[in-house]
Amino acid sequence: MRPLYRLMVFLCVVGLLLPACRPAEPADLVLLNGVIYTVDAKRTIAEAMAVRGDTIVYVGSNRGAQAYIGPDTHILDLKGKLVLPGLIDSHAHATSGVSDIYEVALYGIDSLEGYQQAIRAFLEDKPGLTALQGAGWVNGVFGPKGPTAAMLDEVVPDIPAVLYSEDYHSVWLNSKALELAGITAETPDPPGGIIERDEKGNPLGTLRETAMDLAADVIPPYTVEQYLEGLAYFQAFAHSLGLTTVYIPSLPGGMEEALLALHEFEASGNMTIRFPTAIGVNPEDDLSVVNDLVARRKAEAGGYFWIQAAKIFMDGVLEGGTAYLEEPYLHQPGKGELLWDPQHYNEMCAALDKAGIQIHVHAIGDAATRLALDGFAYARQVNGRRDARNMITHLQLVNPQDIPRFAELGVVAVPQPYWFVVDTYYHQAVEYVGQARADRQYPMKSFFDNRVKVAASSDYPVTWPPNPMNAIEIGVTRTVPRDVPGYVEPDYETPLNPFERVTVEQMIEAFTMNGAYAIFMENQIGSLEVGKKADFIVLSQNILKIDPRQIHNTVVLLTYFEGREVFRHEQFGE
Ligand SMILES: [Zn+2]
Repeated sequence: MRPLYRLMVFLCVVGLLLPACRPAEPADLVLLNGVIYTVDAKRTIAEAMAVRGDTIVYVGSNRGAQAYIGPDTHILDLKGKLVLPGLIDSHAHATSGVSDIYEVALYGIDSLEGYQQAIRAFLEDKPGLTALQGAGWVNGVFGPKGPTAAMLDEVVPDIPAVLYSEDYHSVWLNSKALELAGITAETPDPPGGIIERDEKGNPLGTLRETAMDLAADVIPPYTVEQYLEGLAYFQAFAHSLGLTTVYIPSLPGGMEEALLALHEFEASGNMTIRFPTAIGVNPEDDLSVVNDLVARRKAEAGGYFWIQAAKIFMDGVLEGGTAYLEEPYLHQPGKGELLWDPQHYNEMCAALDKAGIQIHVHAIGDAATRLALDGFAYARQVNGRRDARNMITHLQLVNPQDIPRFAELGVVAVPQPYWFVVDTYYHQAVEYVGQARADRQYPMKSFFDNRVKVAASSDYPVTWPPNPMNAIEIGVTRTVPRDVPGYVEPDYETPLNPFERVTVEQMIEAFTMNGAYAIFMENQIGSLEVGKKADFIVLSQNILKIDPRQIHNTVVLLTYFEGREVFRHEQFGE
């Protein structure tokens, strides 16, 4: 062979250039002139990409892409814009989309007057409501006993009102709701719960943790139709933020309506997002619950909605004094609330693991995280090593000694980077657990340094909006982005635990490949590579190049799900 000919053969083999070498099968869509950050193993940046049907068939140079352009190929000239894989939120309560429509939002308001004003305006807007529900108030605005029924009666005297705190670990009732719930001075605190009371024992209006169940029947559950409306709304919202896969970590109360809505939404053919979903397993459940989960998983197998995991709450939250800590709180006696008997939890883990079900654990306190890991270790000891990819989410305080155990046990860490800031929560943490512990909240870099898979998430609706651009900025700066709603007493300059800052690249990995890994889909989604699903987004600015403090201003221009355009921003012409 002549050297030149040999070179040409070589180039054909590696798939570069030379259209003549290729079978001339045109693609449906070709992207040209982009900065395509593929998130492949080498973190390749490509100019062009071709998509046939729902699949990526080419990633490379503009010249190489010419071979895929036929008479019917749609061409997107990206003019230097950044392309990323479709983003994955690994913990967001998508079924709460209905709440954005039917519930008063108190997020980002920092006074009682503000809450009352928002409630008045909402009621005026929705006349005829027979009950008021909502969420978003923060404990920090009130004293340790929380807000009172009397405060709420001033604006909602006639119908029951049930308003959840921003973290959904406390609820605020008016007198009508207390009455309907039958809560009086005689009602005992349920195990794992607190009814806030005056000196005489009368209920004040705030219920915490399991005591919230007492108010569960005051408001009628949403109907399947309302959930469907909420899911369609959430899907559009998610697409506008660049999300193409959203892990639903648990379903609301009755669950059946939400499940049915997810099922029907998928059956309608209108679902253009993936919803891996976890179902709650509670401390009072016996091991037979595992069989129910297996049956449900079988019934919903395939498609864009499926049963992915069992969700377990290990503890509460720091702001409620219910996160389970290794060392006591400073503002109250004790170490918080452990929601499971460790032995029962271990056995539940082993049973779930044996059935091949992923376990998704809520753990906020360092002691809760340790016990969560112990359960996974127990399951491995009983069943042998399995590619389980169990997940622990929130991870507000983690003993540094436990971080390498995530890697050892193959556990995915699922933090909410939106919360890595100094705001009202931080000041409360200083008061409740002291400066030293408050200052080591929310590790992130430590996980990466220890080769732990980190998958980012919002915990929507706790975080609103669940905009990954905000999270990416915060992961890098550990400060509050300017002009982003939802932060009370934001400190724009002081970083929270700056040692734990990560890079933009790591944040992207946490919203793409690692989220795909967490749902065992790393061979189908999470990066832009030949053979993978064509989930991708186009951004208004190159977040890898700009000042990190500008990342939150980035707009998603286009979102594609499996080769189909599902969102287009008005700023993107054509
Ligand atoms: Zn959650």
